[in-house]
Amino acid sequence: MGMGERDRAAEESGEGGERMSDIVGGCLCGSVRYESEAEPILTAVCHCRHCQKQTSSAFSIFVVLPKGSLRIEGEALAAFEDVGESGLPVFRKFCPKCGSAIVSEVVATPDVEWLNAGTLDDPSWFRPQMHMWCGSSQPWVSIDEDIPAYAGNPPQGD
Ligand SMILES: [Zn+2]
Ligand SMILES: [Zn+2]
Repeated sequence: MGMGERDRAAEESGEGGERMSDIVGGCLCGSVRYESEAEPILTAVCHCRHCQKQTSSAFSIFVVLPKGSLRIEGEALAAFEDVGESGLPVFRKFCPKCGSAIVSEVVATPDVEWLNAGTLDDPSWFRPQMHMWCGSSQPWVSIDEDIPAYAGNPPQGD
């Protein structure tokens, strides 16, 4: 019925083609695996001291996803109940076997989940759209001037 031709045309024009992001990943030891079909709401780098401590690095990289869009399989995540600037809890979830940070639930942002993007199987597509907590960024880290950068949390849009 001509469907083959139509599919080919769609392929060539890029319609219905490859997604910008591929959200499939897991922890270092492989006990935790996850995937999501959702389009990211935001990608961000966080330079806060809590992220520096948790990652033992200079910053966290996050893919922000709609709440509930992440399917997690395997080992049940452990959680550390941190406190955000809002005074509300931040549940930093990690693999109980290898300690990889997987996702944070921030009570102050109840509609989203903050996926630790270094755990993606292929994190190479990640490009930050925002830097936050630049007030505590490490002195050797250069912050991209082409995207928004905030000293602390970004201003609330509403
Ligand atoms: Zn693990
Ligand atoms: Zn942070």
